[in-house]
Amino acid sequence: MKVDIDTHFHTPLSKCCHDPAATIENIAAILAARGYRLIAVTDHVWSHPTVAPNEWYRRHSESGTLAQADYIHAHAAEFPLTVLAGCEADMQAPGVFGFSPAMREKLDLIMLSSDHFQLRDFVEQPAEVTPKNLAKLMMKFFLSAVRESGADILTHPLYTNSYDEFFDRTMDCISDAELSDALGEAAERKIALELNAGLFRAAVQGRYQWDSMVRIFTLAKQAGCKFTMGTDAHKLSDFDLAPLCGKMADQAGITEADLYDFSRFTSKR
Ligand SMILES: [Zn+2]
Ligand SMILES: [Zn+2]
Repeated sequence: MKVDIDTHFHTPLSKCCHDPAATIENIAAILAARGYRLIAVTDHVWSHPTVAPNEWYRRHSESGTLAQADYIHAHAAEFPLTVLAGCEADMQAPGVFGFSPAMREKLDLIMLSSDHFQLRDFVEQPAEVTPKNLAKLMMKFFLSAVRESGADILTHPLYTNSYDEFFDRTMDCISDAELSDALGEAAERKIALELNAGLFRAAVQGRYQWDSMVRIFTLAKQAGCKFTMGTDAHKLSDFDLAPLCGKMADQAGITEADLYDFSRFTSKR
């Protein structure tokens, strides 16, 4: 499939983006020239009434995200393609989601991570790191995100982030039936799943089996899920990874008709 949307990338508002050229204007211009129709800006944020951010999230304020959304909406007509205001919100544990009603109200898209296990000092960890424990925890996070979060998109769903070497064996612990049931719930609740190019690059680099991911997305397609695509770019050159999303879509049988319906945004242009 030819990729013409990107609903996941970071600008310098995210402290992990060190490319000063990765501005919304530059990204919009580059991707419009490549024939894209829609992008969403998704910088990191944590906002919760009682759960304080960790050191890293302290530098990503809700006010910054809301101000960015105002900026995007104010300049919408000047961008050469549809630009949506989104975020990459996080989940500390099942039932604990880091985005506020004000964000839900103002942002076009709430994208939620249900597996940022690399944040060791913040996101719940398995008691002991084994494939079986990771499988249990990952599924618990996923189902909670699907059932309780109210997010629009789950980014890089069902991945053992930072426990890459455990991923294939973790997936071996989850049966097709269990996986299909969970994915079916995502379909039912209309939470889109993201094809994440950054994650697919890890497979190309040999950190896990590409086919483990094809299995997830094939079952997701069969379960009736909707999908979106994102590079998770942290610098301009990362946008070149986009074809990996198209390749995964093709192998999983995902077509244009299976993409998340963005028409409520594009019809405004
Ligand atoms: Zn992420
Ligand atoms: Zn990201």
